[in-house]
Amino acid sequence: MSPFILEISYLIGSISFIVGLKMLSHPETARRGNIYAGIGMLIAIAGTIFLYKNSEGQGIGNIPWILAAMVIGTVIGYMMAMKVKMTAMPQMVSFFNGMGGACAAIISIVEFNAHSGHPEKGFLAIVFLGLAIGAVSFSGSMVAYGKLDGKVKDARGNMFVYINNLFLLGLAILIGIGVFNPDMFGHSLIWILLAASLLYGVLFVLPIGGADMPVVISLLNSFTGVAAALGGFLYGNQVMLTGGILVGSAGTILTVLMCKAMNRSLMNVIVGSFGAAAGAATSADGDKVAKEINATDAAILCAYANKVCIVPGYGLAVAQAQHTCHEFEKQLAQRGVEVIYAIHPVAGRMPGHMNVLLAEADVDYPKMLEMDDVNPMLPNTDVCIVVGANDVVNPAAEEDPSSPIYGMPIIQVSNANNVIIMKRSMGKGYAGIENDLFFRNKSRMLFGDAKDSLGKLIGELKEL
Ligand code: NDP
Repeated sequence: MSPFILEISYLIGSISFIVGLKMLSHPETARRGNIYAGIGMLIAIAGTIFLYKNSEGQGIGNIPWILAAMVIGTVIGYMMAMKVKMTAMPQMVSFFNGMGGACAAIISIVEFNAHSGHPEKGFLAIVFLGLAIGAVSFSGSMVAYGKLDGKVKDARGNMFVYINNLFLLGLAILIGIGVFNPDMFGHSLIWILLAASLLYGVLFVLPIGGADMPVVISLLNSFTGVAAALGGFLYGNQVMLTGGILVGSAGTILTVLMCKAMNRSLMNVIVGSFGAAAGAATSADGDKVAKEINATDAAILCAYANKVCIVPGYGLAVAQAQHTCHEFEKQLAQRGVEVIYAIHPVAGRMPGHMNVLLAEADVDYPKMLEMDDVNPMLPNTDVCIVVGANDVVNPAAEEDPSSPIYGMPIIQVSNANNVIIMKRSMGKGYAGIENDLFFRNKSRMLFGDAKDSLGKLIGELKEL
């Protein structure tokens, strides 16, 4: 009976992953999707711990150790998730992803050690691939985590490209030897491969611009998925296989979407220098002057508008201004102004960053419009308020073929009748380039922290 219940628990786990993943694609259902997938995972893990029996009828053993490790992991994960700031989310995702890669690598080592003698080639290929991919994902994710946290500096240079290609070839040769001539290095092969894969993970991520880390994390996430799927093959465990394939394919799709939204190829992310050549990309605007607006005038402009479009960006997350922004929107709505939000697919520092922030502040989902839907509306919009966004509204992406962001689709705020840009200074955004929008006729700068500025606007609206 118990093998049947175990299979059912795996089936429930697999279905919940698929349903959960589908629900993650919409802000309204994302939170529930995460919970459903988590419950499915718990059922599958509990099934494995308590119901699994091998061909000799033995259970998995070491249950107190497993439960103790689960409790420690749960407490650490819970504390990290509760403490993390929204702006530090990519670091946390990177850290958790690295742990997944490490698990996959450890599974390979344990299974290799458990099958001494001459296991078959298919088994060896899965073990070595799982080890290499998992270890690369682990060390790469740790470097990505360090870079995002400002603890690891970029190391650039074409030299890395050559060294990395050689390393990749070396890894492939080692795996080939391990599968077809396992006696050549004997048992030490697994440790040589582990060391080489860990080093390759570091060398692979080290030269990639710190600013490109979210794309790299998504790529490493897909590696971890593949490594976990290989673990599923190893154990003949369908739920692990399904979970790994889902993570692998979701990570790959996300990587492709992020590259597409920035109009860059994956190769350009890996060997390019986006955001590094800030000086080189700066336009000659020494005599251009950006016009300022104060909170009172900005509030009057918005209060008497028919339609206002708020364009949030990374600065909204830095300022944690989502609740104040929603309050500002409600104040305008009370005065009969139609307010919409324009969400760029790569605004912020991770996909869906703005949706998550605004959802946290209970902004109505129908008011959050995607870039392609909002752009045609902008010529009929009275005021566009850019809250801490920069690159995603930079006209250079459409107008300047020499710009590093040329070709990236943008929110065309300069088509609106008035543009108010809230930021603290004339500082650059993620891509490290000037933004000509600030100097345009219809543009006005409202300098200051986004939360403070929005607070002032609310105060002014209440006075009107
Ligand atoms: P940007 O990083 O281009 O600009 C953010 C702006 O916010 C800065 O110019 C900064 O100016 C301002 N800012 C910072 N702190 C505050 C604050 N407290 N109050 C007010 N303003 C503040 O952000 P965007 O969202 O426009 O663009 C995102 C960029 O990230 C794009 O280039 C995208 O390609 C990239 N990216 C996004 C990913 C994603 O998945 N979302 C993944 C990888 C990259 P100042 O210092 O003057 O205040």
